[in-house]
Amino acid sequence: MSFDEPKKNFGLESGNPVASGKNTTFPFLLSPIHVGSHQLRNRVMMGSMHTRLEMMERSIERLALFYGSRASGGAGLIVTGGYAPNLEGLLDENGPALLTQEDADTLRPIPQAVHDAGGKIILQVLHTGRNAKVKQPVGASAIPSPINPKVPRALSTEEVWATIEDFVHCAELAQRAGFDGVEIMGSEGYLLNQFTVIRTNDREDEFGGSLENRLRLPLEIVRRTRERLGQSFLIMYRISAIDLVEGGAPLNEILTLAQAVEQAGADILNTGIGWHESRVPTIGYVVPRAAWRFAVARIRKVVSIPIIASNRINNPAIAEELLSSEDADMVSMARPFLADPDFVNKAATGRADEINTCIACNQACLDYIFSERTASCLVNPKAGNELEYAVLLDRKSVTKKVGIIGAGAAGLACAITAAERGHKVTLFEASSDIGGQLNLARKVPGKQEFDALIKYYRIKLDVLGVQVKLNCSVDANYLFKQQLDHYVIATGVLPRQVEIPGSDKLKVVNYVDLLSGLVTAGQKVIVMGAGGVGFDVAQFLVGEKVELSESYDAKSIAHFQEEWGVDPSENSIGGIKKSLPQIISREVTIVQRKPEKMGRRLGMTTGWAIKSELSRRNVQMLSGCTYERIDEQGLHLTINGTPQLLKADTIVICAGQDSVFDLHLDLKRLGVFSTVIGGAEQAQELDALRAIDQGTRLALSF
Ligand code: NAP
Ligand code: SF4
Repeated sequence: MSFDEPKKNFGLESGNPVASGKNTTFPFLLSPIHVGSHQLRNRVMMGSMHTRLEMMERSIERLALFYGSRASGGAGLIVTGGYAPNLEGLLDENGPALLTQEDADTLRPIPQAVHDAGGKIILQVLHTGRNAKVKQPVGASAIPSPINPKVPRALSTEEVWATIEDFVHCAELAQRAGFDGVEIMGSEGYLLNQFTVIRTNDREDEFGGSLENRLRLPLEIVRRTRERLGQSFLIMYRISAIDLVEGGAPLNEILTLAQAVEQAGADILNTGIGWHESRVPTIGYVVPRAAWRFAVARIRKVVSIPIIASNRINNPAIAEELLSSEDADMVSMARPFLADPDFVNKAATGRADEINTCIACNQACLDYIFSERTASCLVNPKAGNELEYAVLLDRKSVTKKVGIIGAGAAGLACAITAAERGHKVTLFEASSDIGGQLNLARKVPGKQEFDALIKYYRIKLDVLGVQVKLNCSVDANYLFKQQLDHYVIATGVLPRQVEIPGSDKLKVVNYVDLLSGLVTAGQKVIVMGAGGVGFDVAQFLVGEKVELSESYDAKSIAHFQEEWGVDPSENSIGGIKKSLPQIISREVTIVQRKPEKMGRRLGMTTGWAIKSELSRRNVQMLSGCTYERIDEQGLHLTINGTPQLLKADTIVICAGQDSVFDLHLDLKRLGVFSTVIGGAEQAQELDALRAIDQGTRLALSF
């Protein structure tokens, strides 16, 4: 196999849209592209994402609305969530599968909705292999997965050949349903990936041992699918561009597979980054934007078909940079299309700054899916709830005067939604800026993406003509005199005080004062309270704040690779280093009273990375504490009946919040009705997701 560089431009006149006279801000991104026998209207793909919409009632209607609205928003190509080609390949016992002609006919409204909106859609065929949450998972070998307690059964040789036929049959059914093609899922450590690497394949038949044998399964699937479905059916193969696990594929094997997949008949390659069991974050907010372009670029050099870059591409500028530098031919975004279905249309009409950016929090998408809920989006609660919101949006309403007090997440969401509905909105904010608690979140290392959300609200308030009154602390009498139609109290929360003898000492500070820079911490710090904020504060105390760049930032990517042991060198196996560096920083201890494991309530898909970062910085975590008193030396406490002294220069209280809703009560006394939302309504479990959803829904009820 040779790795010489092929030439290509895939439909760009003279190879460069700028040279060809196209004059848009994102000329590469918005140029059509030839893929196989298809022409896509632009170079933006909405990548595959499990949504669990399939498990809801009226699921097909929901899926058609979900994908149809993303096609209306301009996505050039859409890939569905994964459908299993047989029962052994299910995600879990209730996971989606495409097995019969009846299944195919049921799916018809989905591609139809996308085609009606001028888009194209392909169905992902996914066999989860040893990761399947089913009674008896199967795999290349009986080697257990670190993320599934069930030991897989190795497929027999005959069963592997039958699995190949199941993939092809599934593709035939996708064609029958009206899809433009399939994505054959060969990355993220699922079945095909389990066959291609020695980490999970110790077989001795024609599917194990030599590289040729290990690649036989995916290549036979691609070859037979092409043979059976003809040239007009789009075949995309998702290749693992870097496995990020021990015993993963070395670069030469990845490049060999890419070339062989092309020769077997694939029209286009999509890329996956890391296996699900990898201990390197691949899509969370700690990953810099476009961090994985190097892994895509090196495959692009050796194939003639287009290749798609994925993971942490969340704005059109960075996507354009990837394409114009010829590191990739298309970009894939999944979560950004949850955050804003109109991503492409906004980029194409000079409104890129109005795109609601995915902040990579995973809170309402992946964390929901892994806890068996339907995917939605923190910044866009309409995502996944299109059916319910369609009813709310249909509601007729006459223009009203709305006053919203508090410009945190809940108040902001309410203000822009009400203004979009044509209401006359005034937003009162006591402080000098909008954002509320979002301004604190953005101070935490890695969470700078929250800036994008604040920026989005700032622009929308301006575009929609919301009257924003900053430094404006209003009382009930003032509001009463305004004679508004609706009053919304979104006055948020205050940090909860603790009642421990000595808690009035100077060394005791609250998290708001610390994060907002009013106070600084000493060298030895105790963080009291181990909720999301306690962990945020610990990261703030020991982490290194790397500024988030709008465009590609080699320095922050090098820092990320160092921190997480990513090895981009050509000789690495699986793309990772053997051990992670220990980092010297402040001495920090997090304490909590509950005896439960620390960080249990952190996000499922991000909590492990936060804990890994903190433990490498030697942050201590103590649960089951009884606090006795605070004095000059530090915190006196008892653990398992043993009294102890934790010495500290600073003690940061992160004990939750109390709601601030006095204004609601004052208005009530004047006989004025107001609605309380966000943290002001419920401080417990306060989070931006609930606040934004509540604010949005309320505004749609006016
Ligand atoms: P929280 O999750 O309610 O945690 C408060 C912590 O303070 C608990 O560890 C609690 O543990 C302790 N505590 C409560 N009352 C106390 C008292 N009187 N004295 C001493 N300790 C006390 O609140 P939070 O950390 O402020 O987070 C608020 C919300 O923000 C959460 O719902 C979370 O979803 C969200 N958030 C999430 C993240 C994330 O996932 N990364 C980040 C930030 C915020 P003990 O009672 O056991 O001591
Ligand atoms: Fe992005 Fe967070 Fe929305 Fe998921 S929930 S799509 S990560 S903003």
